[in-house]
Amino acid sequence: MESPTNPTVGQDGGGTTIGGAPGRGRGVAAEELRRHNLAAVVECLHLSGPLSRSELAGMTGLNRSTIADLLGELAGLGLVGERPGATPTGPGRPSPTVHARPEGATVLAVELAVDSIAVATAGLGGHVYNLLRVARPRGRFSPEETTQDVAKLAGPLLDALPAERTLVGVGVAVVGITRRSDGFVHLAPNLGWRDVPLASMLAGILDLGVPVLAANEADLGALAEHRRGIRPGIANLVYVSGEVGIGAGVIMDGKPMLGSAGYAGEAGHTLINPDGSECRCGAVGCWEAEAGEAALLRRAGIGDGTGHIDEMAERAASGDELTLAAIAESGRWLGVGIGNLINLFNPELVVLGGLYHRLFRYLESAVIEGARLRTLDAPGEMATIVCSGLGSDAPLVGAGELVLSGVIADPASVDGRSREARTPVGRGR
Ligand SMILES: [Zn+2]
Repeated sequence: MESPTNPTVGQDGGGTTIGGAPGRGRGVAAEELRRHNLAAVVECLHLSGPLSRSELAGMTGLNRSTIADLLGELAGLGLVGERPGATPTGPGRPSPTVHARPEGATVLAVELAVDSIAVATAGLGGHVYNLLRVARPRGRFSPEETTQDVAKLAGPLLDALPAERTLVGVGVAVVGITRRSDGFVHLAPNLGWRDVPLASMLAGILDLGVPVLAANEADLGALAEHRRGIRPGIANLVYVSGEVGIGAGVIMDGKPMLGSAGYAGEAGHTLINPDGSECRCGAVGCWEAEAGEAALLRRAGIGDGTGHIDEMAERAASGDELTLAAIAESGRWLGVGIGNLINLFNPELVVLGGLYHRLFRYLESAVIEGARLRTLDAPGEMATIVCSGLGSDAPLVGAGELVLSGVIADPASVDGRSREARTPVGRGR
């Protein structure tokens, strides 16, 4: 679950009385209602940061005695804590604030990109303990080498976490077509992978005893932009990321659009130019063959290899005309594809990430021009094309959010995992 459903249904139903209601049907309903209300409170604290109890009541639509009761349970689970308020809000003592405890639900996030591997440790509330990204020369790294590299990078980060943390899972963003249910990578052409049981390989080598979830990097970039990007909470959003290929992730009505198994969003291989170049996938005129990295470099006369986009950005910054013309031509094709996505999904926001984030200032006007060629007036007028606020870390942030989404959906699920520190929250203030 990515966000709780309408929290206001618990307006008068929370508190200590309903949990003890007699009758099986009523008991189950009460349990669901309680889980739902716990989720609403944790989600507010996770996304909004520290809040007073009255702010929490206002945001969730729950009354203050229900909030007090839910916070008591969440404190017992180690997920929330409370601090004295810093600034007086009127006569009398300042209101204390409630916060999500990152050590109560900590994750290891991993991103497997073409030119780099990134690992981060983060926790509930969005706190990042450590983040490490290492470049690697472009090559066809085997899944075995890659997972060993991840384990080597992650070890020191995990060791540096507070001793009392509760590790709830590992989230992995990978540039490939990935089955959500078991983190199986069917195809990652730019890594040279086919049929790799990535999540189970990582679970084996990391040996942390927690679930490992793997998903497509553009889908996770979309999730990150939806939850922590420049306009958090936008319900309809398309994230378009360029690396070697083009990936797209879609958030519709506040929920990720994944398809039956998680394969939706392979927009890079949709037809954009029937007279275009041959694509790596074997077809002709794919979007990524016209607007992806290889097309950009080819038009700019820059050779392939690591560091190419750095070189391109440097040349663009120095005003090199051939480079700027190459970016504009690729940008128009990028815009044409974005226009198609705007017509299909009617997003409020189209967020450009990956290499498009790096080149955004040079691409922007050409992208808008290309998009205008394709979009119908009504959806076109509603959509704004922006540069990612999270930059190259969006998929990594999304990998962490993927794991934390499970904790938020069912906060009591952390009970029973190794946990030492619990911070009491005073009740009935
Ligand atoms: Zn293709």
